[in-house]
Amino acid sequence: MRQAGRVVAEMHEVCAAAAVPGATTADLDRVAREVLEKRGARSNFLGYHGFPAVVCTSPNEVIVHGIPGDRVLSEGDIISIDCGAIIDGWHADAALTVPVGDIDELSRRLIDVTSASLDAAIDKVHADARLGDLGAACEAVVHAAGFSVVREYVGHGIGTAMHEDPEVPNYGRAGRGMRLRDGMVLAIEPMVNAGEAATRVLDDGWTVVTVDGSRSAHFEHSVAITEHGPEILTVP
Ligand code: MG
Ligand code: MG
Repeated sequence: MRQAGRVVAEMHEVCAAAAVPGATTADLDRVAREVLEKRGARSNFLGYHGFPAVVCTSPNEVIVHGIPGDRVLSEGDIISIDCGAIIDGWHADAALTVPVGDIDELSRRLIDVTSASLDAAIDKVHADARLGDLGAACEAVVHAAGFSVVREYVGHGIGTAMHEDPEVPNYGRAGRGMRLRDGMVLAIEPMVNAGEAATRVLDDGWTVVTVDGSRSAHFEHSVAITEHGPEILTVP
């Protein structure tokens, strides 16, 4: 899973570099495919319930599951890039949101707060912690900033499949929920809206957007629970 995680981190790196004004979301999928090929990894996104790409590209008001295509990125956009990889049957999954050129102050803050909310959840990861500890920590950071946590989509366990039990909500109550154990791996993935939390799926059956049109950001890491604390697998 560490090897798969490193591939995902490299996919993020090339996608972030390709997210410039004038690029299309399909360009991001193309550079991500090159990394999978170069590293001998398979995609866990391509073909997942028929998903047609190796990355989800979710600009601005798109929360998650955007399909790469001919949408052109403009200066001032933000874009969430979510992708995964499989090495020898083991999965990794991670996401990040990056600016396209110069972005406004609200978008900058949305990205920073979402990233900080993931860090806050990861800080709670240790054997004997409860799932609710993670969600509560994440939610506290988001609410303090005046933003909303998406509730309909959550994180998950990950291993020999991309989506395993348990569900990992980005909200909750400390001290509640399943107890964590050494050896578990969780994909923790807060999705944060600048406006209201409500979500809607477009007619393509995939693209999830904010109902109020506000911008949304998404950060995710696959995190192992070890006797030494959390180990983030989806890093270079
Ligand atoms: Mg995930
Ligand atoms: Mg993901």
